[in-house]
Amino acid sequence: MDSMHDLVIRNALLIDGLGSPPRRGDLAVKDGKIRETGTASLPGKQTIDADGLALMPGIIDNHTHYDAQITWDPGISPSPQLGVTTAVIGNCGFTIAPCRPADRERVMRNLTQVEGMSLEVLKSGIRWDFESLPQYLALLERRGSAANIAVFAGHSAIRTYVMGEAATQRVATDDEVAAMRRIVVDGVRAGAVGFSTSTSPAHNGEGGEPMPSRLADDREMRSLVGGLKEAGRGVFMLTKGGHTPMAFLDELAADSSRPVVVAALLHNSTNPESVFKDLEAIRESNARGRRLVGAVSCCPLAMDFTLRSPYTFEGLQSWQPALPLKDAAYREKLKQRAFRDAVTSELAQPAHFRLFNGEWDKVHVVESRRKEAEHRSVAELARAAGKDPLDAMLDLALEEDLDTVFSALLLNSDEEAVGRMLRHPASLVSLSDAGAHLSFFNDAGFGLHLLGHWVRRRGLLTLEEAVRRLTSHPAGVFGIRGRGALLPGYHADLLLFDPDKVDRGPKRRVFDLPGGHPRLSTPAIGVEGVWVNGTRLSGEALPGRLLRDFLP
Ligand SMILES: [Zn+2]
Repeated sequence: MDSMHDLVIRNALLIDGLGSPPRRGDLAVKDGKIRETGTASLPGKQTIDADGLALMPGIIDNHTHYDAQITWDPGISPSPQLGVTTAVIGNCGFTIAPCRPADRERVMRNLTQVEGMSLEVLKSGIRWDFESLPQYLALLERRGSAANIAVFAGHSAIRTYVMGEAATQRVATDDEVAAMRRIVVDGVRAGAVGFSTSTSPAHNGEGGEPMPSRLADDREMRSLVGGLKEAGRGVFMLTKGGHTPMAFLDELAADSSRPVVVAALLHNSTNPESVFKDLEAIRESNARGRRLVGAVSCCPLAMDFTLRSPYTFEGLQSWQPALPLKDAAYREKLKQRAFRDAVTSELAQPAHFRLFNGEWDKVHVVESRRKEAEHRSVAELARAAGKDPLDAMLDLALEEDLDTVFSALLLNSDEEAVGRMLRHPASLVSLSDAGAHLSFFNDAGFGLHLLGHWVRRRGLLTLEEAVRRLTSHPAGVFGIRGRGALLPGYHADLLLFDPDKVDRGPKRRVFDLPGGHPRLSTPAIGVEGVWVNGTRLSGEALPGRLLRDFLP
Protein backbone atom coordinates (compact mmCIF):
# COMPACT_ATOMS: atom_id res chain seq x y z
CA MET A 1 0.00 0.00 0.00
CA ASP A 2 1.37 3.37 -1.02
CA SER A 3 1.73 5.77 1.84
CA MET A 4 3.44 8.55 -0.03
CA HIS A 5 3.76 9.91 -3.52
CA ASP A 6 7.22 10.65 -4.90
CA LEU A 7 6.24 14.15 -5.90
CA VAL A 8 3.23 16.37 -5.34
CA ILE A 9 2.92 19.63 -7.25
CA ARG A 10 0.32 21.66 -5.37
CA ASN A 11 -1.77 24.60 -6.34
CA ALA A 12 -1.07 24.54 -10.08
CA LEU A 13 -3.18 25.69 -12.98
CA LEU A 14 -3.65 22.25 -14.55
CA ILE A 15 -3.93 22.22 -18.34
CA ASP A 16 -4.66 18.63 -19.23
CA GLY A 17 -3.54 18.55 -22.88
CA LEU A 18 -6.97 17.38 -24.00
CA GLY A 19 -8.36 20.87 -24.46
CA SER A 20 -10.33 21.06 -21.20
CA PRO A 21 -10.51 24.47 -19.50
CA PRO A 22 -7.63 24.99 -17.03
CA ARG A 23 -8.45 24.28 -13.37
CA ARG A 24 -6.60 24.82 -10.12
CA GLY A 25 -5.37 21.68 -8.38
CA ASP A 26 -2.57 19.27 -7.45
CA LEU A 27 -0.79 16.63 -9.43
CA ALA A 28 0.86 13.63 -7.81
CA VAL A 29 3.61 11.42 -9.26
CA LYS A 30 4.77 7.97 -8.19
CA ASP A 31 7.22 5.67 -9.99
CA GLY A 32 7.46 7.99 -12.98
CA LYS A 33 3.71 8.12 -13.58
CA ILE A 34 0.92 10.51 -12.81
CA ARG A 35 -1.17 8.99 -9.98
CA GLU A 36 -3.70 11.68 -9.14
CA THR A 37 -4.84 15.03 -10.45
CA GLY A 38 -7.13 17.47 -8.66
CA THR A 39 -6.53 16.91 -4.97
CA ALA A 40 -3.63 14.75 -3.84
CA SER A 41 -4.83 12.27 -1.21
CA LEU A 42 -1.31 11.43 0.00
CA PRO A 43 1.68 13.60 0.85
CA GLY A 44 4.73 13.64 -1.40
CA LYS A 45 8.32 12.80 -0.50
CA GLN A 46 8.86 16.03 -2.35
CA THR A 47 6.28 18.81 -2.57
CA ILE A 48 6.36 21.82 -4.81
CA ASP A 49 4.00 24.75 -4.36
CA ALA A 50 3.29 25.93 -7.90
CA ASP A 51 1.63 29.06 -6.58
CA GLY A 52 -0.73 29.24 -9.54
CA LEU A 53 1.83 28.56 -12.28
CA ALA A 54 0.57 26.49 -15.22
CA LEU A 55 1.32 22.77 -15.42
CA MET A 56 0.92 20.99 -18.73
CA PRO A 57 2.10 17.72 -20.28
CA GLY A 58 5.59 18.10 -21.76
CA ILE A 59 5.77 19.22 -25.38
CA ILE A 60 5.99 16.52 -28.05
CA ASP A 61 8.21 17.82 -30.84
CA ASN A 62 7.27 15.71 -33.83
CA HIS A 63 9.78 17.14 -36.33
CA THR A 64 13.40 16.99 -35.21
CA HIS A 65 16.74 15.87 -36.62
CA TYR A 66 18.75 14.82 -33.58
CA ASP A 67 19.83 11.53 -35.21
CA ALA A 68 23.52 12.45 -35.33
CA GLN A 69 23.69 14.80 -32.33
CA ILE A 70 22.06 12.32 -29.95
CA THR A 71 25.02 9.95 -30.36
CA TRP A 72 27.39 12.51 -28.78
CA ASP A 73 24.83 14.58 -26.86
CA PRO A 74 22.08 12.43 -25.32
CA GLY A 75 20.89 15.67 -23.70
CA ILE A 76 19.72 16.75 -27.19
CA SER A 77 20.32 20.35 -26.24
CA PRO A 78 18.47 22.67 -26.33
CA SER A 79 15.03 21.01 -26.77
CA PRO A 80 14.41 19.67 -23.23
CA GLN A 81 15.26 23.06 -21.69
CA LEU A 82 12.58 24.48 -23.99
CA GLY A 83 9.90 22.19 -22.57
CA VAL A 84 10.19 19.28 -25.01
CA THR A 85 9.85 15.92 -23.25
CA THR A 86 9.45 13.74 -26.35
CA ALA A 87 11.24 14.25 -29.67
CA VAL A 88 10.57 12.40 -32.92
CA ILE A 89 13.87 12.11 -34.78
CA GLY A 90 14.71 11.03 -38.34
CA ASN A 91 12.24 13.29 -40.14
CA CYS A 92 12.50 13.82 -43.90
CA GLY A 93 14.38 10.50 -44.19
CA PHE A 94 17.64 12.02 -42.96
CA THR A 95 18.83 9.27 -40.65
CA ILE A 96 22.17 7.64 -39.94
CA ALA A 97 20.91 4.07 -39.50
CA PRO A 98 21.21 1.64 -41.10
CA CYS A 99 24.77 2.34 -42.21
CA ARG A 100 27.68 0.08 -43.17
CA PRO A 101 31.14 1.22 -42.03
CA ALA A 102 32.14 1.78 -45.67
CA ASP A 103 29.20 4.16 -46.21
CA ARG A 104 29.69 6.38 -43.14
CA GLU A 105 31.51 9.11 -45.00
CA ARG A 106 28.84 9.10 -47.72
CA VAL A 107 26.00 9.38 -45.18
CA MET A 108 27.77 12.22 -43.35
CA ARG A 109 28.39 14.09 -46.61
CA ASN A 110 24.67 13.82 -47.36
CA LEU A 111 23.87 15.35 -43.98
CA THR A 112 26.25 18.31 -43.97
CA GLN A 113 24.17 20.60 -46.14
CA VAL A 114 20.71 19.79 -44.80
CA GLU A 115 21.80 19.62 -41.18
CA GLY A 116 23.93 22.76 -41.38
CA MET A 117 26.84 20.96 -39.71
CA SER A 118 30.29 20.61 -41.18
CA LEU A 119 31.70 17.22 -42.13
CA GLU A 120 34.38 17.85 -39.50
CA VAL A 121 31.74 18.21 -36.75
CA LEU A 122 29.91 15.07 -37.86
CA LYS A 123 33.14 13.07 -38.16
CA SER A 124 34.38 13.97 -34.70
CA GLY A 125 30.93 13.76 -33.18
CA ILE A 126 29.02 10.69 -34.37
CA ARG A 127 29.54 7.50 -32.39
CA TRP A 128 29.07 4.70 -34.86
CA ASP A 129 28.30 1.91 -32.40
CA PHE A 130 25.69 0.35 -34.69
CA GLU A 131 25.11 -0.82 -38.21
CA SER A 132 21.45 -1.80 -38.48
CA LEU A 133 18.43 0.24 -37.48
CA PRO A 134 17.53 -2.16 -34.64
CA GLN A 135 21.12 -1.77 -33.35
CA TYR A 136 20.76 2.02 -33.46
CA LEU A 137 17.51 1.75 -31.46
CA ALA A 138 19.27 -0.49 -28.94
CA LEU A 139 22.11 2.02 -28.60
CA LEU A 140 19.70 4.87 -27.83
CA GLU A 141 17.85 2.67 -25.38
CA ARG A 142 21.04 1.68 -23.58
CA ARG A 143 22.40 5.19 -23.28
CA GLY A 144 19.20 7.02 -22.40
CA SER A 145 18.48 10.63 -23.28
CA ALA A 146 17.15 13.76 -21.64
CA ALA A 147 13.81 13.45 -23.47
CA ASN A 148 11.87 10.44 -24.75
CA ILE A 149 12.79 9.59 -28.32
CA ALA A 150 10.85 8.11 -31.22
CA VAL A 151 12.84 7.21 -34.32
CA PHE A 152 11.81 7.12 -37.97
CA ALA A 153 13.14 4.57 -40.43
CA GLY A 154 14.58 7.11 -42.85
CA HIS A 155 14.49 6.64 -46.59
CA SER A 156 17.83 8.23 -47.51
CA ALA A 157 19.89 6.08 -45.12
CA ILE A 158 18.01 2.95 -46.18
CA ARG A 159 18.55 3.75 -49.87
CA THR A 160 22.28 4.30 -49.32
CA TYR A 161 22.50 1.05 -47.34
CA VAL A 162 20.91 -0.92 -50.19
CA MET A 163 22.25 0.93 -53.24
CA GLY A 164 25.55 2.45 -52.10
CA GLU A 165 26.82 5.17 -54.41
CA ALA A 166 23.95 4.61 -56.86
CA ALA A 167 21.48 5.87 -54.22
CA THR A 168 21.96 9.45 -55.40
CA GLN A 169 22.12 8.56 -59.08
CA ARG A 170 19.28 6.40 -60.34
CA VAL A 171 15.95 4.68 -59.76
CA ALA A 172 16.07 1.39 -57.88
CA THR A 173 15.68 -2.09 -59.36
CA ASP A 174 12.87 -4.37 -58.18
CA ASP A 175 15.33 -6.30 -56.01
CA GLU A 176 16.61 -3.10 -54.42
CA VAL A 177 13.09 -1.90 -53.72
CA ALA A 178 12.30 -5.25 -52.10
CA ALA A 179 15.44 -5.01 -49.92
CA MET A 180 14.52 -1.48 -48.82
CA ARG A 181 11.00 -2.55 -48.00
CA ARG A 182 12.32 -5.37 -45.82
CA ILE A 183 14.34 -2.84 -43.79
CA VAL A 184 11.27 -0.62 -43.36
CA VAL A 185 9.11 -3.54 -42.22
CA ASP A 186 11.77 -4.91 -39.84
CA GLY A 187 12.60 -1.41 -38.56
CA VAL A 188 9.00 -0.58 -37.73
CA ARG A 189 8.51 -4.00 -36.13
CA ALA A 190 11.65 -3.35 -34.05
CA GLY A 191 10.23 -0.07 -32.80
CA ALA A 192 10.64 2.69 -35.38
CA VAL A 193 7.71 5.13 -35.30
CA GLY A 194 7.23 5.02 -39.06
CA PHE A 195 8.87 5.69 -42.40
CA SER A 196 10.08 9.14 -43.46
CA THR A 197 11.18 10.59 -46.76
CA SER A 198 11.66 13.77 -48.77
CA THR A 199 11.02 14.72 -52.38
CA SER A 200 11.93 18.36 -51.76
CA PRO A 201 14.38 20.03 -54.14
CA ALA A 202 15.70 22.03 -51.16
CA HIS A 203 17.20 18.81 -49.78
CA ASN A 204 20.72 18.31 -51.09
CA GLY A 205 23.85 16.65 -49.84
CA GLU A 206 27.37 17.96 -50.11
CA GLY A 207 28.24 19.34 -53.52
CA GLY A 208 24.57 19.63 -54.44
CA GLU A 209 23.97 15.90 -54.83
CA PRO A 210 20.27 15.25 -54.31
CA MET A 211 19.35 13.45 -51.10
CA PRO A 212 18.93 9.76 -52.06
CA SER A 213 15.15 9.69 -51.47
CA ARG A 214 14.69 12.27 -54.22
CA LEU A 215 15.69 9.63 -56.77
CA ALA A 216 12.82 7.31 -55.79
CA ASP A 217 10.08 6.79 -58.36
CA ASP A 218 6.40 6.32 -57.49
CA ARG A 219 6.77 2.54 -57.57
CA GLU A 220 9.46 2.65 -54.86
CA MET A 221 7.39 5.04 -52.72
CA ARG A 222 4.32 2.80 -53.04
CA SER A 223 6.29 -0.25 -52.05
CA LEU A 224 8.01 1.32 -49.01
CA VAL A 225 4.82 2.92 -47.67
CA GLY A 226 3.20 -0.47 -48.32
CA GLY A 227 5.76 -1.84 -45.85
CA LEU A 228 3.89 0.03 -43.11
CA LYS A 229 0.69 -1.72 -44.11
CA GLU A 230 2.52 -5.04 -44.01
CA ALA A 231 3.88 -4.24 -40.54
CA GLY A 232 0.41 -3.04 -39.47
CA ARG A 233 1.83 0.07 -37.83
CA GLY A 234 3.77 3.27 -38.32
CA VAL A 235 3.32 6.78 -39.67
CA PHE A 236 4.37 7.84 -43.17
CA MET A 237 6.12 11.23 -43.05
CA LEU A 238 7.08 13.12 -46.19
CA THR A 239 8.56 16.53 -46.96
CA LYS A 240 7.16 17.06 -50.37
CA GLY A 241 8.53 18.88 -53.35
CA GLY A 242 6.15 20.80 -55.62
CA HIS A 243 6.08 17.89 -58.07
CA THR A 244 4.56 15.47 -55.53
CA PRO A 245 0.81 15.89 -55.98
CA MET A 246 -1.60 15.63 -53.05
CA ALA A 247 -3.56 13.05 -55.08
CA PHE A 248 -0.56 10.69 -54.86
CA LEU A 249 -0.39 11.10 -51.08
CA ASP A 250 -4.12 10.48 -50.85
CA GLU A 251 -3.57 7.26 -52.78
CA LEU A 252 -0.69 6.17 -50.50
CA ALA A 253 -2.82 6.92 -47.43
CA ALA A 254 -5.73 4.94 -48.85
CA ASP A 255 -3.63 1.95 -49.96
CA SER A 256 -1.61 1.69 -46.74
CA SER A 257 -4.38 2.70 -44.29
CA ARG A 258 -1.60 4.43 -42.34
CA PRO A 259 -1.48 8.05 -41.06
CA VAL A 260 0.38 10.43 -43.35
CA VAL A 261 2.20 13.57 -42.17
CA VAL A 262 2.65 16.02 -45.05
CA ALA A 263 5.47 18.55 -44.57
CA ALA A 264 6.56 21.25 -44.91
CA LEU A 265 3.56 23.55 -45.25
CA LEU A 266 5.21 26.94 -44.89
CA HIS A 267 3.47 30.07 -46.12
CA ASN A 268 4.99 31.68 -49.17
CA SER A 269 3.97 35.30 -49.75
CA THR A 270 4.56 35.10 -53.48
CA ASN A 271 2.29 32.05 -53.86
CA PRO A 272 0.03 32.71 -50.91
CA GLU A 273 -2.73 30.19 -51.59
CA SER A 274 -0.65 27.07 -52.18
CA VAL A 275 -0.46 25.89 -48.55
CA PHE A 276 -4.17 26.46 -48.11
CA LYS A 277 -4.85 24.35 -51.20
CA ASP A 278 -2.76 21.56 -49.67
CA LEU A 279 -4.57 21.85 -46.33
CA GLU A 280 -7.94 21.76 -48.09
CA ALA A 281 -6.86 18.70 -50.10
CA ILE A 282 -5.91 17.03 -46.81
CA ARG A 283 -9.26 17.91 -45.31
CA GLU A 284 -11.02 16.40 -48.31
CA SER A 285 -8.93 13.21 -48.09
CA ASN A 286 -9.84 12.89 -44.44
CA ALA A 287 -13.50 13.29 -45.31
CA ARG A 288 -13.00 10.17 -47.48
CA GLY A 289 -11.70 8.27 -44.45
CA ARG A 290 -7.93 8.76 -44.74
CA ARG A 291 -5.71 10.00 -41.93
CA LEU A 292 -3.53 12.87 -43.11
CA VAL A 293 -2.22 15.97 -41.37
CA GLY A 294 -0.41 18.96 -42.79
CA ALA A 295 2.72 19.86 -40.81
CA VAL A 296 2.78 23.64 -40.31
CA SER A 297 5.11 25.90 -38.35
CA CYS A 298 4.13 28.58 -35.86
CA CYS A 299 7.46 30.36 -36.37
CA PRO A 300 8.56 32.74 -39.11
CA LEU A 301 11.32 31.00 -41.06
CA ALA A 302 14.36 33.25 -40.92
CA MET A 303 17.78 31.95 -41.86
CA ASP A 304 21.22 33.34 -41.23
CA PHE A 305 23.65 32.50 -43.99
CA THR A 306 26.87 33.42 -45.74
CA LEU A 307 27.53 32.84 -49.42
CA ARG A 308 29.92 30.05 -48.36
CA SER A 309 26.93 27.84 -47.68
CA PRO A 310 23.80 29.66 -48.90
CA TYR A 311 21.08 27.09 -48.11
CA THR A 312 18.63 29.84 -48.96
CA PHE A 313 19.47 29.56 -52.67
CA GLU A 314 20.58 25.97 -53.02
CA GLY A 315 17.15 24.67 -53.97
CA LEU A 316 17.05 26.90 -57.05
CA GLN A 317 17.55 25.11 -60.36
CA SER A 318 19.72 27.97 -61.56
CA TRP A 319 21.99 27.63 -58.51
CA GLN A 320 22.83 23.98 -59.23
CA PRO A 321 25.92 24.74 -61.39
CA ALA A 322 27.49 26.52 -58.40
CA LEU A 323 26.90 23.70 -55.90
CA PRO A 324 29.79 21.36 -56.73
CA LEU A 325 32.31 24.21 -57.08
CA LYS A 326 34.79 25.24 -54.42
CA ASP A 327 37.12 28.15 -53.73
CA ALA A 328 38.21 30.16 -56.78
CA ALA A 329 35.96 28.27 -59.19
CA TYR A 330 32.93 28.94 -56.97
CA ARG A 331 33.78 32.65 -56.68
CA GLU A 332 34.20 32.83 -60.44
CA LYS A 333 30.72 31.31 -60.88
CA LEU A 334 29.21 33.87 -58.50
CA LYS A 335 30.71 36.64 -60.64
CA GLN A 336 29.41 35.31 -63.95
CA ARG A 337 26.76 37.43 -65.67
CA ALA A 338 25.04 34.39 -67.21
CA PHE A 339 24.79 32.66 -63.82
CA ARG A 340 23.32 35.76 -62.16
CA ASP A 341 20.85 36.31 -64.99
CA ALA A 342 19.65 32.73 -64.72
CA VAL A 343 19.05 33.12 -60.95
CA THR A 344 17.23 36.42 -61.41
CA SER A 345 14.99 35.04 -64.11
CA GLU A 346 14.16 31.90 -62.09
CA LEU A 347 13.22 34.05 -59.09
CA ALA A 348 10.85 36.01 -61.34
CA GLN A 349 8.85 32.82 -62.05
CA PRO A 350 6.18 31.79 -59.55
CA ALA A 351 6.84 28.49 -57.74
CA HIS A 352 4.73 26.11 -55.70
CA PHE A 353 7.31 25.79 -52.97
CA ARG A 354 10.55 27.68 -52.84
CA LEU A 355 12.50 28.83 -49.81
CA PHE A 356 13.52 32.18 -51.25
CA ASN A 357 11.23 34.09 -53.55
CA GLY A 358 13.10 37.23 -54.44
CA GLU A 359 11.83 39.25 -51.49
CA TRP A 360 15.04 41.25 -51.19
CA ASP A 361 13.51 43.66 -48.68
CA LYS A 362 13.43 40.68 -46.29
CA VAL A 363 17.15 39.89 -46.69
CA HIS A 364 19.30 41.93 -44.32
CA VAL A 365 23.00 42.31 -43.80
CA VAL A 366 23.86 41.12 -40.29
CA GLU A 367 27.67 41.28 -40.24
CA SER A 368 29.81 43.13 -42.75
CA ARG A 369 33.15 44.89 -42.83
CA ARG A 370 31.20 47.83 -44.19
CA LYS A 371 29.51 48.76 -40.92
CA GLU A 372 27.17 51.16 -42.71
CA ALA A 373 25.68 48.18 -44.56
CA GLU A 374 24.71 46.30 -41.38
CA HIS A 375 21.00 46.06 -40.56
CA ARG A 376 20.06 47.35 -44.00
CA SER A 377 18.14 45.26 -46.48
CA VAL A 378 19.70 44.07 -49.71
CA ALA A 379 16.85 45.87 -51.52
CA GLU A 380 17.89 49.15 -49.87
CA LEU A 381 21.59 48.65 -50.60
CA ALA A 382 20.77 47.82 -54.21
CA ARG A 383 18.68 50.98 -54.64
CA ALA A 384 21.42 53.12 -53.11
CA ALA A 385 24.04 51.59 -55.43
CA GLY A 386 21.78 51.59 -58.48
CA LYS A 387 22.24 47.82 -58.84
CA ASP A 388 20.11 44.75 -59.17
CA PRO A 389 19.62 43.24 -55.66
CA LEU A 390 21.28 39.91 -56.53
CA ASP A 391 24.29 41.82 -57.85
CA ALA A 392 24.39 43.96 -54.72
CA MET A 393 24.38 40.90 -52.44
CA LEU A 394 26.93 38.89 -54.43
CA ASP A 395 29.25 41.87 -54.99
CA LEU A 396 29.27 42.66 -51.28
CA ALA A 397 29.91 39.02 -50.34
CA LEU A 398 32.69 38.61 -52.92
CA GLU A 399 34.32 41.83 -51.75
CA GLU A 400 34.44 40.39 -48.20
CA ASP A 401 35.75 36.94 -49.07
CA LEU A 402 32.22 35.50 -48.60
CA ASP A 403 32.30 36.29 -44.86
CA THR A 404 29.32 38.68 -44.95
CA VAL A 405 26.50 37.29 -42.80
CA PHE A 406 22.99 37.81 -44.16
CA SER A 407 19.66 36.98 -42.58
CA ALA A 408 16.68 36.17 -44.77
CA LEU A 409 13.09 36.13 -43.60
CA LEU A 410 12.00 33.43 -45.98
CA LEU A 411 8.62 31.98 -45.30
CA ASN A 412 5.82 32.15 -42.77
CA SER A 413 6.31 35.88 -42.26
CA ASP A 414 2.66 36.81 -42.98
CA GLU A 415 1.11 36.55 -39.50
CA GLU A 416 -2.45 36.64 -40.74
CA ALA A 417 -1.79 33.65 -43.00
CA VAL A 418 0.15 31.71 -40.36
CA GLY A 419 -2.74 32.26 -37.95
CA ARG A 420 -5.14 30.76 -40.51
CA MET A 421 -2.85 27.76 -40.95
CA LEU A 422 -2.54 27.17 -37.21
CA ARG A 423 -6.31 27.17 -36.85
CA HIS A 424 -6.92 24.92 -39.83
CA PRO A 425 -8.44 21.59 -38.71
CA ALA A 426 -6.03 19.61 -40.91
CA SER A 427 -2.87 21.18 -39.52
CA LEU A 428 -0.32 19.72 -37.11
CA VAL A 429 1.94 22.17 -35.25
CA SER A 430 5.37 20.99 -36.28
CA LEU A 431 8.55 21.77 -38.20
CA SER A 432 10.90 22.92 -35.44
CA ASP A 433 13.66 21.10 -37.38
CA ALA A 434 15.53 21.02 -34.06
CA GLY A 435 18.94 19.44 -34.46
CA ALA A 436 19.25 20.51 -38.12
CA HIS A 437 20.19 23.66 -40.00
CA LEU A 438 22.15 24.50 -36.89
CA SER A 439 23.98 27.48 -38.30
CA PHE A 440 20.91 28.90 -40.07
CA PHE A 441 18.08 28.98 -37.54
CA ASN A 442 16.80 27.30 -34.40
CA ASP A 443 13.09 26.80 -33.75
CA ALA A 444 13.51 24.19 -30.99
CA GLY A 445 11.53 26.61 -28.80
CA PHE A 446 8.50 26.50 -31.13
CA GLY A 447 6.21 25.34 -28.31
CA LEU A 448 7.13 28.27 -26.08
CA HIS A 449 6.64 30.57 -29.07
CA LEU A 450 3.14 29.14 -29.61
CA LEU A 451 2.28 29.79 -25.96
CA GLY A 452 3.91 33.22 -25.73
CA HIS A 453 3.23 34.69 -29.14
CA TRP A 454 0.09 33.05 -30.49
CA VAL A 455 -1.74 32.62 -27.17
CA ARG A 456 -0.66 35.54 -25.00
CA ARG A 457 0.29 38.26 -27.47
CA ARG A 458 -2.00 37.46 -30.38
CA GLY A 459 -4.88 35.64 -28.69
CA LEU A 460 -5.24 33.35 -31.70
CA LEU A 461 -5.71 30.19 -29.65
CA THR A 462 -6.81 29.61 -26.08
CA LEU A 463 -4.12 28.33 -23.75
CA GLU A 464 -5.80 24.94 -23.47
CA GLU A 465 -6.13 24.57 -27.24
CA ALA A 466 -2.48 25.53 -27.81
CA VAL A 467 -1.42 23.01 -25.17
CA ARG A 468 -3.55 20.33 -26.84
CA ARG A 469 -1.83 21.07 -30.17
CA LEU A 470 1.57 20.53 -28.54
CA THR A 471 0.71 17.38 -26.61
CA SER A 472 -2.24 15.01 -27.10
CA HIS A 473 -2.67 15.97 -30.75
CA PRO A 474 0.82 14.85 -31.89
CA ALA A 475 0.65 11.89 -29.46
CA GLY A 476 -2.50 10.76 -31.26
CA VAL A 477 -1.08 11.22 -34.77
CA PHE A 478 2.10 9.27 -33.93
CA GLY A 479 0.45 6.61 -31.79
CA ILE A 480 2.48 7.55 -28.70
CA ARG A 481 1.00 5.71 -25.76
CA GLY A 482 0.41 7.13 -22.30
CA ARG A 483 1.85 10.57 -22.96
CA GLY A 484 0.52 13.98 -23.95
CA ALA A 485 -2.13 14.35 -21.23
CA LEU A 486 -2.34 14.90 -17.47
CA LEU A 487 -4.23 11.72 -16.70
CA PRO A 488 -3.73 9.16 -13.94
CA GLY A 489 -1.62 6.30 -15.28
CA TYR A 490 0.10 8.50 -17.86
CA HIS A 491 3.86 9.01 -17.76
CA ALA A 492 4.87 12.05 -15.75
CA ASP A 493 6.21 14.22 -18.59
CA LEU A 494 5.51 17.70 -17.27
CA LEU A 495 6.15 21.34 -18.02
CA LEU A 496 5.65 23.96 -15.30
CA PHE A 497 5.59 27.50 -16.65
CA ASP A 498 4.43 31.04 -16.10
CA PRO A 499 1.73 31.82 -18.68
CA ASP A 500 2.32 35.56 -18.23
CA LYS A 501 5.98 35.26 -19.21
CA VAL A 502 6.43 32.11 -21.29
CA ASP A 503 8.39 32.71 -24.50
CA ARG A 504 11.58 31.83 -26.31
CA GLY A 505 14.41 34.30 -26.00
CA PRO A 506 16.40 35.87 -28.84
CA LYS A 507 18.61 33.59 -30.88
CA ARG A 508 22.31 33.67 -30.10
CA ARG A 509 25.42 31.92 -31.36
CA VAL A 510 26.82 29.25 -29.00
CA PHE A 511 30.04 27.31 -29.59
CA ASP A 512 29.27 23.87 -28.20
CA LEU A 513 29.37 21.53 -31.19
CA PRO A 514 32.24 19.01 -31.31
CA GLY A 515 35.44 20.98 -31.88
CA GLY A 516 33.87 24.17 -30.57
CA HIS A 517 31.89 24.87 -33.74
CA PRO A 518 29.00 27.33 -33.52
CA ARG A 519 25.27 26.86 -33.79
CA LEU A 520 22.26 29.00 -33.00
CA SER A 521 20.31 28.54 -29.79
CA THR A 522 17.47 30.25 -27.98
CA PRO A 523 16.94 30.38 -24.21
CA ALA A 524 13.65 29.51 -22.53
CA ILE A 525 11.70 32.25 -20.79
CA GLY A 526 9.13 31.56 -18.08
CA VAL A 527 9.91 27.83 -17.80
CA GLU A 528 9.97 26.83 -14.12
CA GLY A 529 10.52 23.09 -14.39
CA VAL A 530 10.55 20.16 -16.81
CA TRP A 531 10.04 16.52 -15.76
CA VAL A 532 10.55 13.45 -17.92
CA ASN A 533 9.14 10.17 -16.59
CA GLY A 534 8.84 11.82 -13.19
CA THR A 535 12.46 13.02 -13.01
CA ARG A 536 13.16 16.73 -12.98
CA LEU A 537 15.64 17.71 -15.68
CA SER A 538 18.85 19.21 -14.44
CA GLY A 539 22.50 18.76 -15.28
CA GLU A 540 23.26 15.37 -16.74
CA ALA A 541 19.97 13.59 -15.96
CA LEU A 542 18.89 11.23 -18.75
CA PRO A 543 15.42 10.04 -17.73
CA GLY A 544 14.10 9.85 -21.32
CA ARG A 545 13.23 6.51 -22.87
CA LEU A 546 13.34 5.14 -26.34
CA LEU A 547 9.71 4.73 -27.39
CA ARG A 548 9.09 1.51 -29.33
CA ASP A 549 5.55 0.50 -28.59
CA PHE A 550 3.22 2.65 -30.64
CA LEU A 551 -0.52 2.31 -31.06
CA PRO A 552 -1.26 0.19 -34.13
ZN1 LIG B 1 13.15 18.28 -41.52
